[in-house]
Order: sequence, then structure tokens, then C-alpha cells
Amino acid sequence: MRFPLALTVKIARHIIKHTLRRTPRFALVLQLEPLHTCNLTCTGCGRIREYSTSLKDMMSLEDCLASAQECGAPMVSVCGGEPLIYPKIEELVAGLLAQQRIVYICTNGMFMRKKLKEHLADTYSPAQEPTLARLLAEKLISEKDAEIIRKGKHDGRPTIKPSKWLYWNVHIDGLEYTHDLIVEREGVFKECVEAVRMAKLLGYQVATNTTVYKESDVKEIEQMFEFFSSLGVDGHTISPGYDYDAAKKDMVKRLGRQPEDFFLTRAMTIQKFAKIQEWAERFTIFGTPVYQEFLAGKRELTCTAWAIPTRNVRGWKAPCYLMTDGHYERYQEMLDKVDWNKYGVVNGIARDHRCENCMVHCGYDPSGALGTNYQRGDTWKNIRYNFAARPKPYTAGRQVKAFNGFSIGKGHLAEANAAINADLAGAKSAFQNNGNKGDSGGACSGGDTSQRDDLLVKVRAAKKA
Ligand code: SF4
Ligand code: SF4
Repeated sequence: MRFPLALTVKIARHIIKHTLRRTPRFALVLQLEPLHTCNLTCTGCGRIREYSTSLKDMMSLEDCLASAQECGAPMVSVCGGEPLIYPKIEELVAGLLAQQRIVYICTNGMFMRKKLKEHLADTYSPAQEPTLARLLAEKLISEKDAEIIRKGKHDGRPTIKPSKWLYWNVHIDGLEYTHDLIVEREGVFKECVEAVRMAKLLGYQVATNTTVYKESDVKEIEQMFEFFSSLGVDGHTISPGYDYDAAKKDMVKRLGRQPEDFFLTRAMTIQKFAKIQEWAERFTIFGTPVYQEFLAGKRELTCTAWAIPTRNVRGWKAPCYLMTDGHYERYQEMLDKVDWNKYGVVNGIARDHRCENCMVHCGYDPSGALGTNYQRGDTWKNIRYNFAARPKPYTAGRQVKAFNGFSIGKGHLAEANAAINADLAGAKSAFQNNGNKGDSGGACSGGDTSQRDDLLVKVRAAKKA
């Protein structure tokens, strides 16, 4: 099966229950943002920009767990910001699992190995020595890490344990050069790969989570799937980028670029996703085949953003994960008060101009599962997709030259440095090409922009000379 049976049954039951009750709108996946603080400042991220004034705020553990109960979604995607910065992430994951929900931890991967090591320490016994030896041999932990693990963990707090109900969902937007460029820091891709390898070795389920931008190269996305499939990941989520206001403003102000240079229109999305159905045959792409047809431009769907609600420090965010027209105290209040007929694209006409280019999974993937715009054969299509044999790991993916940037001295910062040393014109063009022009002014309180800032200082000095 493409997806574990128990998980598929849980979601199917939830849909059937609400269909029989004729519930007009209900939650399938909760996007839970316990905090918006992040250690990165990715290009195109609206979160750290839109919520720049509340980056230090966070939801209480009780509030997080109560939100999941309140909307009743069978699946919770814990995102942010970077959820591994949330001080009670372990308790949150344990609490959601105790509520019998499917949990995705959407992470940029930078703190994942730390969490895996804590789990190893918590469960350490001499019987684990062969595992430690393998991790050491594969350079996924250091001798010092192994010593700390052997001492055990004695703080009485839970750790994140492998579970069939849990996925690490690691943000990967391309191979090394592209990914590090988008997250605006070198070395992130390498760390993600090591975290994925370590998690798989320890028996966790791991997925990758990719946003496709205008600049994303389709061939590279395919190679990325091949590479991560060869590492044995359990699935991939993929969605087109969306030009939401906060990210747009940041793009213009901080990077000096026009949003249309970066984000996809509908026509471009359809072009980029032309091979999505072929990819879904080769790799375990999460999402319904109906949504895949939509992405490939083969059918229309109506937005069902209410099925993937977002809850954060300000409340229930409406109408969707991307756009903010208000926050509500209660999920039901949001369902009742929002005029859902104002949003989405119907028969090619955008009901709200901001929806015009949107085809994102959090608006349209549930539409495929819920049977909006139902066409004959859709149910069978979804069943066949879910129950089909899972595509085998693509072992030839090991040949993909995934480390094509920082690891071989070709990182975007290294290139910019070289250009600065060569001449100012070169420096300027390196910055423009790599989206690092202008004031760093990132809104993320936890972001380390020191490398980029150093370069900017050098550019300014060169300009004065
Ligand atoms: S990892 Fe990047 S995309 Fe995710 S919240 Fe942080 S800055 Fe935004
Ligand atoms: S189409 Fe739906 S998900 Fe997309 S921006 Fe509009 S309301 Fe949000």
C-alpha cells in the first residue's frame, strides 16, 4: 500500500462519518503553529514576515492540544516557524498521539538530529551499541555524541519516538545548491540529508515537503525525488508556491525582486506539474490523484481551505494557511462567520483576486478527498491510488549528484564572495542572481544572517571605494 492501512482507514472513517452526518464543513488536517520563531529566513516564507511582531509569542501546550480536540482533525501537521524550537514539542507530539491523531512534524531539519540523539539517550542500553556503531561509521553522530547517549537522559521529559502514526516532514526545495539558496543559508541541505538518513536508520517514518517556485527546475525536482527515494523516505508532499502578501512585500523590499520573478501563475504551475502523475507512479507522492490531475491542468477543483485550518498564537486563521482576513477564537466560529463563497477560483474566475494563482495543497488537496467537483470514477481512482503497491525505493537515485553546492565549494555565498573579490559588478550580479540583494532586515528573530550580512558589508565597502 502507498500509505499505511491504519492511517488510510482513520481518514476514510472520518470523511464517511461527516458525510453521513451531512456536516457541511469539517477539518481533515490541522496546521498547528505553536510558534512562528524560526532559525532560518527562507526566501518566500510568509510566516516569519507576516507574524514578525509576535515571533516571541507561543501557544501553550494546553491550547495546542485543545485546538486539535476542538476541530477534531484526524491529522495534525505541526509547523511554524520551526516547531522543534517549541520548548514542549515532545509533550505536544506525545499529547497528539495520545489523542490518536496522525502527526506530521514539519521541520527545516536543522534540529532533527538533536532530537534523535535525545531519544537514543532516553532509551540507551548496551544492546544499542551496534546501532551507535553504525551511526558512528556513517558519521551521523560523533564519538562525543555517543558518550553523551551512553550516559542516558534523566530529565524526566518525553522524547519523540518512532511510531506508525508519526512522520518527520522535512522541508527540501531542491538539490543542495538550490535548497541552500532558498533557505538563504549554506549547509542546510547537507544537515537535512544526514537527519533523514539517521531517522530512517532509527526506524522513523520520514517524508519530504517541497514547494515549487518559478525558478524550480522540473528535472531537478525529479532528481530530488530520486535521491530521497534512494534514502528510503516514506513519501513526498509537493505544492506550488503562492504569492501571498507578506512574502510579496518582503521580496520587493528586502530582495529587490518582483514577485512575478519568483512565484508561479496558474499557467506556470500547470507547466511545472505536467509530470506529477508520472512522478506519482514512480515515487510515493502524498495527496489524492484528483489533486494531481488538478495540478496537471486536467480538471478544475473548488477550494476547500476550511478542511485544512490553521491555528496559531492569534487564533484560527481565515480563510486559509496563506491569506489572512482575520483570526477567530473558535474553529466553529470561523466556519460560521467566514463567507467561504468569496474565495477560490470557480470556472476559471477568481472570486477573490488574491486566489487567482493559487493551486496550493492546503486549498485544493482536500477537495480531491472530499469529492467536491466529483467526477465519475474519482472514488475508485482514490482507492486504487491508496491501495496500490508502494513504489520501490529508487536505488539508482544514489547516483544523483545531490551535493552540487556548498559541499563541493560551489555554494551561493562562496560564489558571491568570489565575485566580490573579482570586481563589484560581479558581486552585484551574484547577489541579484541569488536573491540576496539589499538589506537583510529579516523578520525572524532567531535567524542567523551573519554570513550574508558580512557579504553585504563587503559589497557596501566596495561600492564606496
Ligand atoms: S524554515 Fe523557512 S519556510 Fe519554514 S518557517 Fe522557517 S523561514 Fe519559514
Ligand atoms: S484559493 Fe483557497 S487556499 Fe488559495 S488563497 Fe484562496 S482561499 Fe486560500
